[in-house]
Amino acid sequence: MNDSARLYGGSLSPDEAVSKLGALVTQIGEIETVTLANAAGRVLAADLLATHDLPATNNAAVDGYGVDAGFLAANPSHAFPVSGRAAAGHPLSHPVPVGEAVRIFTGAVMPDGVDAVAMHEFCEFDETGNTVCIGSALKPGSNNRPAGENLRAGEMIVAAGTRLAAADIGIAAAAGHGALQVRRRLRVGLLSMGDEVVAAGAPTGRGQIHDSNRPMLATMLADDGFEVVDLGIVPDDEDALTGCFADALESCDAVLSSGGASDGDEDHTQAAMRNNDVEPVFWRLSIKPGRPMAGGIRTGKPVMCVPGNPVAAFVCYRLAAAPVLNQMAGGIARPLLRPRVKCGFDHKKSAGRAEYLRVKMNANAAGEPEMHLHGRKGAGVLSSLTGADGLVEIPVENTGVAVGDYLPFIPFRESGL
Ligand code: AMP
Ligand code: MG
Repeated sequence: MNDSARLYGGSLSPDEAVSKLGALVTQIGEIETVTLANAAGRVLAADLLATHDLPATNNAAVDGYGVDAGFLAANPSHAFPVSGRAAAGHPLSHPVPVGEAVRIFTGAVMPDGVDAVAMHEFCEFDETGNTVCIGSALKPGSNNRPAGENLRAGEMIVAAGTRLAAADIGIAAAAGHGALQVRRRLRVGLLSMGDEVVAAGAPTGRGQIHDSNRPMLATMLADDGFEVVDLGIVPDDEDALTGCFADALESCDAVLSSGGASDGDEDHTQAAMRNNDVEPVFWRLSIKPGRPMAGGIRTGKPVMCVPGNPVAAFVCYRLAAAPVLNQMAGGIARPLLRPRVKCGFDHKKSAGRAEYLRVKMNANAAGEPEMHLHGRKGAGVLSSLTGADGLVEIPVENTGVAVGDYLPFIPFRESGL
């Protein structure tokens, strides 16, 4: 066993790595107020309560004529004089006398004296007499949306720790909030490592490759609501990486690197962690792709080093790094959705590591959803991710997949609603 393997012990599942490292991180404490326009992706700092009943008053659910249902039941063929008009935003200023009707439109406040609305289609309006006959029986409350039906004043509408999405922001507005208390955004220092790695768009020489991980991981971090601090590309040099980690640990809440995470001669992440007194927490995950991921901690700040192969970097970020960062950011844990779906492919693997392959979801001849492998194989083949619907998780103990097996499918977020 080499030094690194001794130092970091056995390999962990991503969930084990998350719970070990997650237990050591310091959560963001600072709170800010943001307007709804700036709230998307932020983590709500305290439970949000409704400030008033919603709707605040009884209101009409359809366009038609409002009457007293009891009077109508006793007088089904009565011609109701129409005593006014109530539209959304234009309430009637007086009560409707018994035996009279109000012309009313969806969303209008139900005037006093009226407890049911007959749909326009079931009414016969006499223009000369300005009266209406109601052709259908009504119960008290028919086509009336009662006050508080949607929300009650004081009711909890969004829980603390929610990463705010469109529906949360919509309900916050409906419940009377124009601004929200959120946690400060987590600052994540992001760097790529490698003598061969060149910034996107720059010319490459022989043996050089463009840095795809930094733009990809920056996008994933931003989509997850984190602030990205771009630390650029660091050469395969222990001193350079040691200095980069030192600066990042000063200015950021967490550090994420890709490349150089193995224990080869050109892999310096572990030395740079040691030189910065970063306490090792795990090294190696029992997954493919993405085995040589390292995680360490210094004063509540995690340093997470994912492998350079782009698909491995993607998988390690999503399964192991993002949940730790979410926890630091104050977010409610969001376990990945893993419904079991039928496999439409065969595959061989060895036991001991869970494997994550890229799949497309299609309906088979019977109309049942079925997963099919997508793109070329290999931890470096980014094109297998583009156009895929998600990952199939082949559990640690499995030695292969046969057509017809049901395995967990992890959809990409972009496949969501
Ligand atoms: P490493 O993890 O440093 O051993 O790198 C594994 C493979 O990923 C090598 O073929 C690297 O050239 C490649 N690689 C490393 N960093 C990046 C990056 N930022 N973007 C694209 N490929 C990378
Ligand atoms: Mg390298």
